[in-house]
Order: sequence, then structure tokens, then C-alpha cells
Amino acid sequence: MRRLRTVVVAAAVAVTLAGCPAPPSRPRAGSAPVDPTALPTRPAPSPPPALDGRSTPVADPVYPDYGNPAIDVLRYQLDLTWDPAARMLTGSATLTLRPVRPLAEIALDFAAGYTVDRATVDGTAAPAGRAGGDLVLRPARPLVMDQPVTAVVAYHGRPSPAAFPGNRADVPAVGMTVTNDGALWTMQEPYGAFTWYPCSDQPSDEALYDFAVTVPAGWSGVANGAPAPPVDAGGGRRTFRWHAAEPIATYLVTLSVDRFERLDDVGPHGLPVTYWVRPADADRMLPTLRQTPAMLTWLEARLGRYPFSTAGIVIVPGDSGMETQTMVTLGAISGPDAVPVVLHELAHHWFGDAVTPRTWRDVWLNEGFATYLQLMYTVDRLGGNGEATLRNWRTQDAGLRRQYGPPGNYRPDAFAARNVYLGPALMLHELRGVLGDPAFFAMLHDWAQHHVNTQQDRESFTTWLDAYTGRKLSPIVDKWLDSPTTP
Ligand SMILES: [Zn+2]
Repeated sequence: MRRLRTVVVAAAVAVTLAGCPAPPSRPRAGSAPVDPTALPTRPAPSPPPALDGRSTPVADPVYPDYGNPAIDVLRYQLDLTWDPAARMLTGSATLTLRPVRPLAEIALDFAAGYTVDRATVDGTAAPAGRAGGDLVLRPARPLVMDQPVTAVVAYHGRPSPAAFPGNRADVPAVGMTVTNDGALWTMQEPYGAFTWYPCSDQPSDEALYDFAVTVPAGWSGVANGAPAPPVDAGGGRRTFRWHAAEPIATYLVTLSVDRFERLDDVGPHGLPVTYWVRPADADRMLPTLRQTPAMLTWLEARLGRYPFSTAGIVIVPGDSGMETQTMVTLGAISGPDAVPVVLHELAHHWFGDAVTPRTWRDVWLNEGFATYLQLMYTVDRLGGNGEATLRNWRTQDAGLRRQYGPPGNYRPDAFAARNVYLGPALMLHELRGVLGDPAFFAMLHDWAQHHVNTQQDRESFTTWLDAYTGRKLSPIVDKWLDSPTTP
């Protein structure tokens, strides 16, 4: 996630250090790999995980009310119909889920405002009730550990978003927002998918997705993955189908319905890219959107291959940007902030989307890396002053730690405050100084590429970092994440 309308990278007429080869202890903020193939990267020691949606869910230490570690959802099939005039969402959610232990009931995060019309487990009616914030299905027979079942929940209701557990002006709420003209869009970090479909709303449980979104003619439904051509659904409606071949955490799922225009582009290696823009936004947004292939190429030169089979951006009437997997959800902004924000969200596709934090304790694994890449791009391509920005971040960091807690143990009511962006980015800059550019960029590349489609945390990162570099670097990580004052 990235706030809009806040310039974090100081602009400058000249990049002060351009042309000066920096000693290892004082790295520049930008650039480095001109030839990524010359980096001392290594092959992944183990094969990538099977793309079957299987994960090892855990309870979230920061937001324990969300997610259910007793189940592992393998796949969601969401068949949704949106009636813009009535503001009515009618849905059928089919969850293929693996009981992690023997279970008598299935508890799912789902907003209480919806009417459940029918619920089944393996084709047999399953009474649905509420307990706490959860929808609870009671299957006719107890569920056997590791034997997947199919749960179907049919529902309808008028969506409304939920409170955001923080105080960011650009994120007034999480989940599904319906606009005055009947459009809808979603941003749902750290949770909020539950405002429009029943789910286990916690990042350790990634799953595969198929969407079928039925909307009136003239409207489009946009979600994650690869789009199929819309088909006639009768009654003056069309159905948009999307298939996500790689597992997604619920906070990285997106759905937007609006009168979009679709524009196609091509990224590196022939990567299919689509932009979804309301005609009124097109002239303003397209100059930024059309830079996506070049940004992906710049990122690939540092981080290795883009980890998914499609990319895209959907423009929504919000004030923030979100790295929703394969389809960035972006507020309708233009001007100098727009390109750095898109770069930040695309960088998250390596750091956050492909390598996902197991719990919200480690949101720094997302924001530290994306913020550092954003700084580098701004220095390299947009005339940003890296030294001034890093000094500015250090100055801010002290107050942010006091106000919101250290980045590795932030206040739960201050989710995604700037403390989890700036300190962890400064930590990466210190690691760069210690390792030198070739080893640092090989490390960035291999952390992402060796862990694609997995969930990670601080312990797994520091263990890997020390083993990978052959040095004891975990104290650097720990001090930046835990110290009440700026290291
Ligand atoms: Zn971010």
C-alpha cells in the first residue's frame, strides 16, 4: 500500500552523487545493476511450491479476529452479480478447503449485513449461523483432517466497508466501497475481503481464485489474474471471468465494477498487461499507465523475472494505491506522485505478493522493500535526491517510532503508518552499505526469486539472510525492527 499525494522522495535539480563511484560504506540511493546477469545471484536451492493453493495457516498475532488457522482454503470460485441501480450484490462463493484438523464446523470471516440464502458442504445443506464476527457452517458430518471439502455459500446484500485499523487520510475504510453512481471498488489491507465474500481473511492462507462477475451492459467487472472475453449473460448483462493461476492472499484480491474502458499493453517477455480506466480519467491517467512496461523492465533488472503471468492496473475513485496481485488498484491521480506510486505497487509484486508476510507483524517485509525500490527508481529516473531523502527519513523515523512503535512491533491501531516504511527501508540501505552493491542486489533478487509463492516472516528472513551471505547480519535487522529509537 502507498499513500498518494505525499512526496516522500525529495525532488532535486541534480542528483548530487551522479558519476561518483560510492565506497561500500556510503552507497548511493539509486541505480546499481546495469547488467543483472552479472550479479552474483544463485539458483534456488529447492523447486518452487506447487500452485495448488495449499498453505500452512497461522493465527494472526496483530489482528487475531481475522483468519481461521483451522482451515486452509485452496480455491475460491466467486460468482458475483452486481446491480448498480439497486446497489445489490448477489453472490455464490464456492470454497475448496482443507481441514487442518478434525472439525465440527467451518468458521469464516463474513460481514453480518448479508443474507445467507443457502449453504452446503459437499452438496449437503449445512446450517449457517453467526458467532462473533464469523459465519459458521455446521456440516452434516464432521470434517476429516486433510480431506478437502467444498463449501458453498449463496448470499445477497448491500456492501459496506469496514473500519480501517489505523489513521491514514488516504484509507478511510477497508473492504468494498460503493460509489454514488453505483460503481464499486475494493482495497482491503490488512483485512476487508470479508465485506464481500466469506473467507479466511489472513495472509498466511493464500488460495487460487476464479471470478465470474455479471454486470449490466456498458459496465465491466475487473479482478485478479487473466481476463476472458466477456460473454452475454442474458437480460442485458455481461459476465466477466478472471482466472488467477498463482495463489493470492485475501488482502491482495481486488474487485472493481465501473464503466471501464479496457486498454491492452505488453510488458517484458510478452507479458500481457491491461489497464481499466473510466473514459473521463483516460487522458489524465494513460501517460502514467503506459510507463508500466518500462517500470517492470527496470524492476526485472534488479529483482529478476516478474513473478506472475499477467499484469494490469485498474483506476478507482479512491485516494490510495494498492498492490493487488496482478492488477494494481490505483486512485485516479496524475502529476508527479503518480509514477512513483505505480513503481511502488509494482515492486510489491516481488515483495508482498510473490513473497507474502505470514502475519501482519511483518508488514515491514512488504513496505521496507517497496519503499527502498521506489527511492531507487526516483533517484535513477525522476531526478530525486537520494541523500536528502535518506536524511529526511532518518529524521522522521525517531518520531514515528515514538508515535506508532518500532516497525517490527507497531501499535495494532496504527496499521501501515510510516514507521513500517521508512525504518525498514533505512535498514536495507545499511545492509547495502555492509554488503556492497553486487552482493546486496544479488540478495534482493534471490530473496524474492527463491521464495516465490510462499509466506515468510522475520525469523525466516534473518535465518536465510545470515546463511545466504555467510555473515551475521540479523542483528542489523533486529535493531531496526525493535529499537524504540532510530539505530
Ligand atoms: Zn506499499
